[in-house]
Amino acid sequence: QVITRFAPSPTGFLHIGGARTALFNWLFARGRGGKFLLRIEDTDRARSTQDAIDAILDGLTWLGLDWDGDPVSQFSRADRHREAVDELVKRGRAFRCYCSPDEVEALRETAFAEGRALRSPWRDKDPADAPADAPYTIRFKAGEDDVVVHDEVLGDVRWAAKEFDDLILLRSDGVPTYNLAVVVDDHDMGVTHIIRGDDHLTNAARQSQIYAALGWDIPVFAHIPLIHGPDGKKLSKRHGALGVEAYRDMGYLPEGLRAYLLRLGWAHGDQEFFTDAEAKTAFGFSGLGKAPARLDFDKLAHINGLAMREADDTRLVDLLISRLLSDATPPRLDEAVLRDRLGAAMPALKTRASSLADLADQAYFLYAERPFRIDGKTAKALDDDARFRLGRLAIVLGALPEWNDAALAAALKDFAETEQVGFGKVGQPLRAALTGGAPAPDLSAVMAFLGKEESLSRIKEHCL
Ligand code: GLU
Repeated sequence: QVITRFAPSPTGFLHIGGARTALFNWLFARGRGGKFLLRIEDTDRARSTQDAIDAILDGLTWLGLDWDGDPVSQFSRADRHREAVDELVKRGRAFRCYCSPDEVEALRETAFAEGRALRSPWRDKDPADAPADAPYTIRFKAGEDDVVVHDEVLGDVRWAAKEFDDLILLRSDGVPTYNLAVVVDDHDMGVTHIIRGDDHLTNAARQSQIYAALGWDIPVFAHIPLIHGPDGKKLSKRHGALGVEAYRDMGYLPEGLRAYLLRLGWAHGDQEFFTDAEAKTAFGFSGLGKAPARLDFDKLAHINGLAMREADDTRLVDLLISRLLSDATPPRLDEAVLRDRLGAAMPALKTRASSLADLADQAYFLYAERPFRIDGKTAKALDDDARFRLGRLAIVLGALPEWNDAALAAALKDFAETEQVGFGKVGQPLRAALTGGAPAPDLSAVMAFLGKEESLSRIKEHCL
């Protein structure tokens, strides 16, 4: 069975790169009937916070990336990590090092001058020679052979043995170190495949040595290039909002962001948009790119727009309403009326909106407070001629036996003919009266969404 995991360090929000890593691991497992586990790498006690853990779990939940079982706390497994260190000592692959920090510093400098990494003199000494009660660390005995990591994205990656020092596994205060903890946890959690950022590639080399020393199977590795900003530089705060919740607040749908993240560093032919079911089937290592992907907000808007089209109308109405109600100036409209209008308009509105924020703009005419502020070109369209014409139009529309898009479209066309003017002479002032000039669909549709009473009341406000 395939078992993947996401192993964030809880020192901040779930950033966009982490979200992509989680997505890839989730898809890989879910597409193969496997498990997706979550491990919180909270061993850095000074920097790990409960707020960050909550933000990461919330972000994953919002994105729809469900994990199996309870999240594992790495910190809580320190005893088990120490057990593994004991095992390595027993196997002769780890040793107590009594060097003081100053000695280590001096040794490191000599080693560096000789073009190799630090090796502790204690690796070959008899522990009986150790000074009594002196503090010690436990170090891994680095191997003498080249280290080769087989990576599903990068192929075989090789390091010379001299590049690796005798890594500390247990600090002098008894705290296990990072690479050791990761190996023991991944082994105990049964992780079979590890997909993560290529900033962990050298760790993979160190971890491989620890796996081998413990006689454990090495999981399959796939290291993916990091995400870069639109300018091609490494992603940083400078590039704008990075936390997943910021994308939620910008009005992207979780499935839209997911579909976008999927394409960030992974390709499958030139298909652009994937439903979840398609993504689960199609996702695999073969489509992973070797070059860093760039964040592209236009593309995100485009892909999210496709997701909006697919989304259920009622869900979009709910999301839009809660967005509008949490605004600093929520619409002063009865919620049932708001819901009716948005519900009627949603099939048309969602085809042209790239996000919920965009949808809110597109739907503005449905909930904006009246009277609208009308200015500029829109105000000019409402000259006296136009106002008299609106008065005649109100009478015609008021007499219509039916109030729907088709009937209204026909009535407007007839009206323009009767008045012997081009459609613009009717349309422009009517649009001004109905929407105040805000973006909106066709006028007949607008009136259908607003209903007869509201439409006529808006028109009559401007009639002469
Ligand atoms: N905790 C590491 C990070 O947040 C991930 C470690 C791993 O995936 O092995 O970068």
